[in-house]
Amino acid sequence: MLERRRPIPVEEAVERVIGYKKQGETEKVLILEAYGRTLGEDVAATHHVPPFDRSPYDGFAIRAQDSSNASSEEPVHFKVIEEIGAGSVAKNIPGPYEAIRIMTGAQLPEGCDAVVMLELAKEYNKENQSYISIKRSYQPGDNVSFTGEDTKKGTVLLKKGESINPGAIALLATFGYECISVAKKPSVAIFATGTELLDVGEELKPGKIRNSNAYMLYAQIIRAGGKPFMLGKLPDHLETCYEAIKNASENFDMIITTGGVSVGDYDYMPDVYKKLGAEVLFNKVAMRPGSVTTAAVKGDILLYGLSGNPSACFVGFELFVKPVIKSRLFSEKPHLLKLQATLTEDFPKPNPFTRFIRSALSIEGDRVKVTPSGFDKSSAVSSLAASDSFIMLPGGTRGFQKGDTVDVLIHEGLEGDVWPWS
Ligand code: AMP
Ligand code: MG
Repeated sequence: MLERRRPIPVEEAVERVIGYKKQGETEKVLILEAYGRTLGEDVAATHHVPPFDRSPYDGFAIRAQDSSNASSEEPVHFKVIEEIGAGSVAKNIPGPYEAIRIMTGAQLPEGCDAVVMLELAKEYNKENQSYISIKRSYQPGDNVSFTGEDTKKGTVLLKKGESINPGAIALLATFGYECISVAKKPSVAIFATGTELLDVGEELKPGKIRNSNAYMLYAQIIRAGGKPFMLGKLPDHLETCYEAIKNASENFDMIITTGGVSVGDYDYMPDVYKKLGAEVLFNKVAMRPGSVTTAAVKGDILLYGLSGNPSACFVGFELFVKPVIKSRLFSEKPHLLKLQATLTEDFPKPNPFTRFIRSALSIEGDRVKVTPSGFDKSSAVSSLAASDSFIMLPGGTRGFQKGDTVDVLIHEGLEGDVWPWS
């Protein structure tokens, strides 16, 4: 008998899977491997930056008080008693009307409190001794980078769960982190189910198609911050699917299958969950595409049964799998970023359920625009590559028009721009 499935709202489905997120784990990686990972601990400044008063320019370190009478008419002269580059510390303490030639990044010599930029000093030699003259006065602190002006020791600069970007790498290096604690990537197994599936390298045959979903999911898992494991294709055969998924459920944090979750004759995933004794969290969501998206739990393993239809599979992953992966990576904002944008074309279709249309964002002046990215069926594969977002239309609506403001969920970083900027 055909099982009746009760569709639940998308929000409820998201909450049900998020409720099963396991506590994330951490591991240590070398700084050169840390880019793109998420932090497993807060990072605080272990010292002031800069750690000493230093010169931000190439020039001459002086005692500001000696310059107080300098003017174009009556320049003040200084004897240059030493030269230091970055990394060196002056051996001498300048006395009245003495200066030290100093390069950018070098520690300000003791007794000095201002720096005259190279271009503002007139250099000359007299009896094998170098001198400068300057035509203006300086205040104490002029052209000095002060200890701690960038950041103070103890300030928390990076939070657990933040993604490590190049700026974060600079901080980790500044504070001497050769190794850093990052969130361990959750392991996610992928199975493609369907007797019609060929592998990528195989020739097309009548009635068969290539397995694209598994490869797409592999990339989506990496993009979400997880570690994918390609476990191959499964035929539409209950025992084979059951055995493969049961074995995997002992070795991975999550298992994703694509296909076989519908109510057709060869859709065995519902029976697999039953046989595994898994608790089904939902098996119908009030959404298009992907209404048959299923999630189940076995022990603390999350099992996702995503639709075999490529667009539905893609959307199901972004809505229900990605936030769980990102939560395990300690993200405090694991869900797709939502914003509002102006629709660039009419979308007359009715929306019995919440609809997620694959779309592309663009920016015109200060306005964000959004355009459906192509063939809009759950079976579509061609509209995915051009999509960086989903237009989210509420259920029970129809007739969205060009110029309407719509909700958009972003799943991919924004693209760059042409040169010159217009
Ligand atoms: P199913 O969810 O198994 O009913 O499959 C729905 C549709 O998606 C069918 O047309 C399948 O042939 C197709 N499909 C299933 N699995 C894949 C896959 N891994 N890659 C591409 N298309 C698929
Ligand atoms: Mg199938």
